[in-house]
Order: sequence, then structure tokens, then C-alpha cells
Amino acid sequence: MTPESPRLSKSRILSGLQCHKQLWWRVHEPDAPELVPDAALRNLLDQGSEVGRKAREYVPGGVLVDLPFHQFDNKVAATRDILQRDPPAPAIYEATFLADDSYAAVDILERGPRGYGVVEVKATNSLKPDHIQDVAVQVHVLRRAGLSVERADLMHLNPDCRYPDLSNLFVREDVAAPVEGVLLGIPDEIAAQRRMLEGPLPQVPIGDHCTRPHDCPFLKRCWPKLPDYHVSSLYRIERKRVLEYEANGYATLYDLPSDLELSHIHARQVRAVTAGRMVVEPALARALSEFVSPLAFLDFETVSLAIPRWDGCRPWQNVPVQFSCHVEERGRGLVHHEWLAAGPADPRPALADAVVAACAGARKVVAYHASFERECIRRLAEAAPRCASELQRIEQKLVDLLPLLRKHIYHPDFGGSFSIKRTLPALVPGLSYRDLKIGEGETATLELMRLMFTGDTMPPEERAELRVALLRYCERDSWAMVKMLERLGGLVGGQLELF
Ligand code: SF4
Repeated sequence: MTPESPRLSKSRILSGLQCHKQLWWRVHEPDAPELVPDAALRNLLDQGSEVGRKAREYVPGGVLVDLPFHQFDNKVAATRDILQRDPPAPAIYEATFLADDSYAAVDILERGPRGYGVVEVKATNSLKPDHIQDVAVQVHVLRRAGLSVERADLMHLNPDCRYPDLSNLFVREDVAAPVEGVLLGIPDEIAAQRRMLEGPLPQVPIGDHCTRPHDCPFLKRCWPKLPDYHVSSLYRIERKRVLEYEANGYATLYDLPSDLELSHIHARQVRAVTAGRMVVEPALARALSEFVSPLAFLDFETVSLAIPRWDGCRPWQNVPVQFSCHVEERGRGLVHHEWLAAGPADPRPALADAVVAACAGARKVVAYHASFERECIRRLAEAAPRCASELQRIEQKLVDLLPLLRKHIYHPDFGGSFSIKRTLPALVPGLSYRDLKIGEGETATLELMRLMFTGDTMPPEERAELRVALLRYCERDSWAMVKMLERLGGLVGGQLELF
């Protein structure tokens, strides 16, 4: 260890386990723009912190090392003081240790009769392989710091827990055996990371490790910009197939030989791209006959909470909190219905009523990727049993626009995706999501949570603006389906018969 060597932390060691080049950048360019967490990551971190605080209630009586995140040395000193207390504390929350110039913080350190137990808390619904590495690094640092660690547990959220009974919110799994296995390689790995950090940026080829266990923040630096219509743009193509095509000298869809065996969707995609125009299968007309007027065009938005807060909800369950529906109504044409949760109270009963009222006269209910809408309708039926039979009828009327496109149409501008964000502007020129303040689903989810759970602390104008932005986003989804179906009707030589 030279005097200039940077101290490592558990999170840095873990990023080095994923890729040395990533660790090098994290250490030597800590202010890199790629390392600033985006809104989605901030949400995960916030919900993770909430889960961490909640977990302490399930291991009560501990003492919290209550210092800001970056005060590592102060946290180490505070942990030492708490360990020396007499009588000893049964547990320490956020206990922090330093050994061999590496820090590790433990969510919950339990004192046992013969030593200590490490409890790592994860805001996930299951145990993942990288969690074992995480605990192994902690156990390594604690043992090097002189602590006798005899147990290692992982506490993760329980997907079977249902609000309001949170007594089983967590599942606690003994991970000592796999941790001991991983531990064997940790000292050599840390030594290798230190040597690497003292040298220049290491050369690491790109590969599966760039996205496993997490997306590397430096993907754009390392991955080359691919040419348009690269073979990787084939719809849902497996990585090993892309590598195979590249190895055979096929870089883009134009290079693929005409006798290459392809799936129907890939063959249509290649035909459309090489011809430079949209391909429409003749069977589209028959498929469209399923969309029988009067139609309702339905779209939901959901939120997802690590710690459930409404009856019957499980950790991370998608809960519908907003909908938009354009409905064909006799004599009135297309009528728009919408509903958006106003605050933190359970939105589902009122939302269920509004959906039932909106879809009352529809023969078919159009959705885009209908399994999501189906799931939302079922969740609403559970939360509002008085509407269950009407909601079940709506579910039975669902017809899905996405597989209709996937099976019958490809436009070169789809770019290998059938997401509505790609298909809408290609099929309906001039209509997209680009003019909206909120233009994609992940942002909508985060903004919905902000509106519902912190809206009462916002200035009224900001709150009103956010509400309008969310309404317009959801409205665009249902309107997009209306316009796409109209276009499809035009493609088969007739106009869709809308009221
Ligand atoms: S993109 Fe891949 S190779 Fe580049 S730093 Fe990240 S993990 Fe390493």
C-alpha cells in the first residue's frame, strides 16, 4: 500500500468485482457526470434507505451510528465506542469498520453469545448472487478489524407480505455458507484492485459483465456507437446470436444473406429495412376485425413501493393510480375520461369506479401490451370488490394492439422495438411524446409518487403543473392507440368505423 493509494469502501470493492476499469474511473474520476444518480436511481436509493430504517424495527434494541454518510472515520470511532459500552448493546445499526485501508458499513451488527452476526438489508424481493459478495466483503473487513464474525444473514423483502400485516415484511436468510465460499477470494481480489488503481486505466474488453449485476454507468464510454440498422437492432435478438452474425461478417441488416433462416418478425424487419418502407401483412385486415366498436382505449399508470401502504398490497407491487380512456360514445364521438390520485390515500376504490364508468358502453377495450392493463384491472378488483364483476367484464373485453403490430407490420423507424414510443411516430407522423413535459413511463411513475406523497409540500402552481403534465402524458397513451388504429384501418383499405 503506497501513501497515495486511495482507501477502498465496500461499494468500490463491489464495483471492482464487476469491472476493474469501472472501479478505476470511480476512484480517479469521482466527479464524472456518469456517477451522478438519475431520478430512477435516486428513487431506488431513497426507498432502499426507508427499507433499511424499517428493518431496524425487526431487530430492536440496537444503537444507531447516526452520522452523515461521508464521515467514515467518525463512524468508525463511534462504532468502536458503542462496542466498548458496558452493558453491551445487543445490536448496532450502520456499524462501520476500517481495516487494511478498506471501509465497510454493516446495516445491522448483532451481538451473539460467541461473536457477532452481520445482517445485510436489501430492498429486493429475493436473494441475488451479488448480495453474497456484498456480505462477504463486510465479513472480510470486520474480521480484519479484529471482530469475531460468526453469522451472516440477509434480510430482504417478503413478496408474500400483504399490507396491513407487516409482521412478515422481511425474510431473513442464513448466507454464512456461501459467504465463506466467496470470502476465500476476497483478499486476493482487494490486493489486485489496489495494484490496478496505482497504474493507468486498465484495458478491459466489453462483455456481459457491463450489465451484470448492474448496468455500468460508463457504458457509453466503452461501447462503440453502432451503425444504423446494426444486427443487434433485430427485435429481441439474443446477444449470442448477434456475436454469431458479427463473426460471420454481418454488421447490419443489409449484410444478412437472403437465405439466412430468420423468425417471421425478423424476416419482416429485414424486408422493411432493406426495402426502405413499411411492410404490412395481408392478414392485418382479418386481425383488425377483432376491434369491434364501440371501443374504449384504456391506459393505466402505476406506482411501486418497496414498503406497501395500502390494503392487500405487497412489496414493490405495481399499483394503478391513474388512467386515461378515450371511449367511442354513440352520438358524441370520442369522449375522454381520466382520473389521477390526489394524495397519499388509497386511490384504488375511486379509480375502479371511474374505470367502470368510462368503459361501461364499450364492446372491446383496447390496450397496448394488455397484460399490464389486465394486471391493473385485477388489482383494482381486489381493492374494490363492489366493482369486481364489472371489472372482470372489462378484462374479458381487452384486445391488444401490440401483438397485432408485431405480427403484421414493420416500419424501418421502429428500430427493432414495438414500444409505443417508437411505433407511434412511425405510424402516425406528427404525433409523438416529444412535445410533452413528461415523455416516458419511468419518469411518469416517479413524478406520480412525488405528486402523491410530497404534493402537499409543493407550491400550489408547481403541484398543478405536475398534475397537468401527468394527465397529458397518460392521455397521449390512449390517444396514441386511437390514432394508430385509425392508421391501421387506412392501411387495409378502409377507415376504422369510429362513432
Ligand atoms: S462498460 Fe464494461 S468494460 Fe467499460 S467500465 Fe463498464 S463494465 Fe467495464
